[in-house]
Amino acid sequence: MCLLKLKILHLFPDLLDQYFDSGNILCMEKRLRWRGIDCEIASICHGESLPDLSDVDFILLGGGADNEQLSVCRHLLNFKNELKAYIEDNGSMLSICGGYQLLGNYYKLKDETVKGLEILDIYTESGDGRLIGDIILEADFLEDSYVVGFENHGGRTFIGDYKPFGKVLYGNGNSDNCGYDGIVYKNLIGTYLHGPLLPKNPKLTDYILTNALKRRYGDFGELVPLDDIIELQANEYIVNRYLDKKETRFIKRWKRKI
Ligand code: GLN
Repeated sequence: MCLLKLKILHLFPDLLDQYFDSGNILCMEKRLRWRGIDCEIASICHGESLPDLSDVDFILLGGGADNEQLSVCRHLLNFKNELKAYIEDNGSMLSICGGYQLLGNYYKLKDETVKGLEILDIYTESGDGRLIGDIILEADFLEDSYVVGFENHGGRTFIGDYKPFGKVLYGNGNSDNCGYDGIVYKNLIGTYLHGPLLPKNPKLTDYILTNALKRRYGDFGELVPLDDIIELQANEYIVNRYLDKKETRFIKRWKRKI
């Protein structure tokens, strides 16, 4: 049987790595290798060209402060058609906070408006004060689990009729108390959740890995389940802290199985 393999591309770890967004890649790599699936990781830094995306299975674009975000955005304007084509072709991508904002039409700051990549028909405006703190979401495509993370952003993002990534149960998300965070478009997830996000949310990681494997191999079967009890307990701790739930539904179901 041929060994399955995914190719992961990390965009600008040198500039957009707030709260160690790179940990998302480590998490993906571990969860692939624990299942005997191979993984190749490449990264490009500021000033370097985007490689051929036709052979890429997943892209991470993290978040960062406005200055770094704007440098990346200016640089990526040279490659926006390639990135758009990758996303339209169902390429998997996770873009976080500043990386999510720059995919839109513009980012309006107090005294300038910065043109975005115009890959998504969304926009961001800086608001009064920053939205900072733990955040909990419910994503309808992730059965029986909550998505937990940490947000810290001055920008408020308006997504029109796109599908949001999740309903906010605690925190802010796209804008002040708007009820939703992020966006899902094809296999792209844009979100305000740092953390890094994936180690805290194993079901979300496996959802992303499954989509990327399906795109490359078609029906590859199913991911072998892993023992996620520690990750799920950490996730549950945050949920209990803010939502006052005794035990998340997913942990209950998991315990019933063992
Ligand atoms: N610079 C953006 C903002 O403050 C993004 C911040 C981030 O990526 N954490 O809105």
